[in-house]
Amino acid sequence: MTIRPELLKNIRRTEPYVPGEQPQNRVIKLNTNENPYPPAPGVREVVQSMDTDRFRLYPDPTAEPLVRALAECYGVGKDQVFVGVGSDDVLSMCFLTFFNSEKPILFPDITYSFYKVWAQLYRIPYECPALDEDFRIVREDYYRENGGIIFPNPNAPTAIYEELDFVEDILEHNRDSIVIVDEAYIDFAGKSAMELIDRYDNLIVVQTFSKARSMAGMRIGYAVSSPELIRLLNDVKYSFNSYTMNQTAILCGVEAVKDTEYFHESVRKIVETRETAKEELKKLGFTFPDARANFIFATHPEKDAGEMFRALKENDIYVRHWDGGRIGDYLRITIGTPEEMKALFDFLHEYIKR
Ligand code: PMP
Repeated sequence: MTIRPELLKNIRRTEPYVPGEQPQNRVIKLNTNENPYPPAPGVREVVQSMDTDRFRLYPDPTAEPLVRALAECYGVGKDQVFVGVGSDDVLSMCFLTFFNSEKPILFPDITYSFYKVWAQLYRIPYECPALDEDFRIVREDYYRENGGIIFPNPNAPTAIYEELDFVEDILEHNRDSIVIVDEAYIDFAGKSAMELIDRYDNLIVVQTFSKARSMAGMRIGYAVSSPELIRLLNDVKYSFNSYTMNQTAILCGVEAVKDTEYFHESVRKIVETRETAKEELKKLGFTFPDARANFIFATHPEKDAGEMFRALKENDIYVRHWDGGRIGDYLRITIGTPEEMKALFDFLHEYIKR
């Protein structure tokens, strides 16, 4: 049965975000920037000792233990932390709360593709200044009037990190706009804009447990900002869904935050593997912008990226590829374990020779 036009005209239709594939069989999975190592051991202990009788009850709507753990970790007040179901949930709430102007919001043309989807869903006007020929964000493009700004640092899928003076420059030029810095990959990169929070009342920093903390499946993200902006964000959240965080996620999140040693060691291993992977890719003739995330955005002068993507997939090695446009010649390769990377390079070595 098709929907009659009279009905259809009042129904919201959107072009949804397309997530990377989640194959359910065992493959070498380098396609969605997950962490190849398990979460901190304390997380397993929490899950194993979970009192399922408590599932009768609603969770703490404020997710207080998790908010407290994050506030202590970053040396900010509890009233400066907002948590949500992955940073996707946090970012989407931020769009709804802070991007409420008739002027267009600004984000790069090549970036996390969910931004465009939320802008369209919430009917927020937007403009997308182009990255330069080296895939860098052009700071002067963000000096114009706007209804808000968002960009990831490091950017995705390019993996390029901009130093804090760049972030600060954008904040300086936009004192009357909210600037959201999406730091999903910051732990693999450099300094976080978190240290600018006290100096800029227009800054919101968003981070996630999905990458460096190995918990993509638990869905935890957070924003840090001034108490005033966090309160406004919470007002919108409570107008949407009081209980976004489930009991298990709250407790697991606390354990992950507490184990800083495990966290640093996990990041160290991935960065080490990434640096070796850069050397291997160079030897194979690939070029790429300097990767500061847990992935590398690489192109090969002689090989078609789409064909390479399909050949890898046929051999159970999953990476990410987007058809067409400026990024159609590139593969985004998540950093896996050294063994997984070896399997990738063994395959590519043979493939490039063909
Ligand atoms: N921001 C960026 C730049 C990302 O690449 C991702 C991962 N897809 C996210 C946010 C969302 O991650 P999550 O919802 O798992 O925290």
